[in-house]
Amino acid sequence: MIPRETINQIIETARIEDVVSEFVTLKKRGSNLIGVCPFHKEKTPSFNVNPARNIFKCFGCGKAGDSVRFIMEHEHYSYPEALRYLAKKYGIKIEEREQTPEELAAQNERERMFNINSFAQDYFSQTMMTTEEGQSVGLAYFRERGFRDAIISKFQLGYCPNSGSAFTEYATKHGYDKDLLVKVGLSGSYEDRTYDRYQGRVIFPIHNLTGKVIGFGGRILTSEKTKAKYVNSPESEIYNKSQTLYGIFFAKNEISRLDNCILVEGYADVLSMHQAGIENVVASSGTSLTTEQVRMISRYTKNVTILYDGDSAGIHAALRGTNMILEEGMNVRIVVLPPEDDPDTFVQHNPIEYVTKYLTDNAKDFISFKTNLLLKDAKNDPIKKAGVIKDIVETIAVIPDAIYRATYIKECSRTLEVPEQTLMNELNKILRAKLRKQLGIDPALMPQTAEKPVQQQPVQQPESTLPVGFYQEQELVKLLLTHGSDTLDLEEQDETGQVSYYKTTIASLIVDDLKNDGLLFRDPTHKKIFDAFDRGLDNEQLPTAKDFISSEEQDVAELAANLLSTQYRLDDWRRHRIVVKTEDDVLKKAVLMSILRFKDMVIDDRRTAVVKELQSCTDPDDQLILLQKKKRLDDIRTKINHDLGIVITK
Ligand code: ATP
Ligand code: MN
Repeated sequence: MIPRETINQIIETARIEDVVSEFVTLKKRGSNLIGVCPFHKEKTPSFNVNPARNIFKCFGCGKAGDSVRFIMEHEHYSYPEALRYLAKKYGIKIEEREQTPEELAAQNERERMFNINSFAQDYFSQTMMTTEEGQSVGLAYFRERGFRDAIISKFQLGYCPNSGSAFTEYATKHGYDKDLLVKVGLSGSYEDRTYDRYQGRVIFPIHNLTGKVIGFGGRILTSEKTKAKYVNSPESEIYNKSQTLYGIFFAKNEISRLDNCILVEGYADVLSMHQAGIENVVASSGTSLTTEQVRMISRYTKNVTILYDGDSAGIHAALRGTNMILEEGMNVRIVVLPPEDDPDTFVQHNPIEYVTKYLTDNAKDFISFKTNLLLKDAKNDPIKKAGVIKDIVETIAVIPDAIYRATYIKECSRTLEVPEQTLMNELNKILRAKLRKQLGIDPALMPQTAEKPVQQQPVQQPESTLPVGFYQEQELVKLLLTHGSDTLDLEEQDETGQVSYYKTTIASLIVDDLKNDGLLFRDPTHKKIFDAFDRGLDNEQLPTAKDFISSEEQDVAELAANLLSTQYRLDDWRRHRIVVKTEDDVLKKAVLMSILRFKDMVIDDRRTAVVKELQSCTDPDDQLILLQKKKRLDDIRTKINHDLGIVITK
């Protein structure tokens, strides 16, 4: 246990540029430092270190945080591990709270359990590779299944002899305690007899994140129906099934490098995939995925691809449990394999090029996968279709990121052929109900609130009046908060074609531009933040993110905290096929596009209003005025689209 004061001291002492530069070569760029991101593959550096704010951020993959976060990500450390690392680096002494005798005893027992497992793993491997029975039964089985020696030795597979208690005797002869052998499930006891639980089975050791053997799976070699196909370790101090993923130790680096984790069901699936060179693969080992397992994956990537057997049981299994993954803020894709295959047979029977192409071509975004599947089931039955809509919206409601939710609503409105607003209303209902439950509020006391992205506080607005351009406003607010005082180099062309360059802060770019066009934010909280930057520009003293987080106005503080705690999603800009060169480039485009998108929404809204007015207007003079108004708005719209085109393609 590290005391709170020490944690604070570590965080305050650790300089981000110091910590990062042990792993990444950094170059000075303005007030920041840049380098090649260690978390994703890239050629041009988009990894940014900001000494002033003491944080890092990669504009390519979106990873961001302070020194502790950097070490956690880079070294795959837990929070306390990262703190210890930094404490050591800066010579800060950690006065750990003393452990009680019980804690000490428990820790020693854990140690001994690890030792026993490691001893057993060694025994099983040796037995398989060097004994007559091991070779002719165990090794022969694995070879028959297409596993080559390299994968057998990498995953430390083994075999337990089929002779009652050979292993148990061997282990006790080497001084291992019988009770502990039983406790970790290597031995079983019946009356006064102790026997090998895995006798006559091939062995799959299960490793934790750091590669220690925490348990075993033993597979039967025959197809006897009277015996369990697998015998697994029981839960113990060192083996918690719901917190374990088979293969994670061998997969974690590749998962983080490829920024994707492939999820399969069985041991054999993991082995075959790794053998084929696809190494970002782990298995949930038969049970449905748990929250802890998803959190473990999310330390390495936010993207999960689930591989399912092509039979209908497999497909329907894909639908179950997936909401939980979405709930953790992960992006989930599904690949359905051909009906006759599971991942194991699929990679064993096909050339690797075919497999990788199949995976790329068939990975479907989970929401659209589910929508299409359910829609097919419902055919044209309107009642069933209503059920589908409800089901899908419920799924969308679990996604924590409001902007993602909005995107999915848009997409599903198209696939389901239901107006966006209808889906949005349905979504709001669900979100409100959830909020009520969370807060334990009596429904009658609950105000009717709109789906307020990111902000958790209910606001006093009827649900249909989410201001036009709300998301675009929020995007700009986020840019102000995260990058308001950053400067950009811009170029400007005058009428003669003369190009001049100038520097400006992002705050001035956003605030002044919108003010020039007479556009203001409509959401009151957004507007408060906008105004604060406006004042800041006047006094040449821009507010910082911290000012907002500690604002006395609760709505401002909360929105700031929320926006600053979710990563800035630059993927959005990629989707528009923007060529990303440097981090300044990305930022510039993000800012310009956000401004244009906001204007586009607002202008479009005004235009719609004018058109509506025109339709009901009978006075010729008024009509003329309205037509002129419409013309002006159309011109602005054309210009926005033109500018958007430039920003996108340039
Ligand atoms: P194989 O291809 O050798 O038949 P598999 O590893 O693909 O085996 P599945 O039958 O697909 O296994 O089951 C998936 C996973 O579920 C297994 O890897 C194992 O972790 C777990 N499992 C399966 N059967 C049992 C069982 N009887 N008891 C405990 N766990 C089991
Ligand atoms: Mn299988």
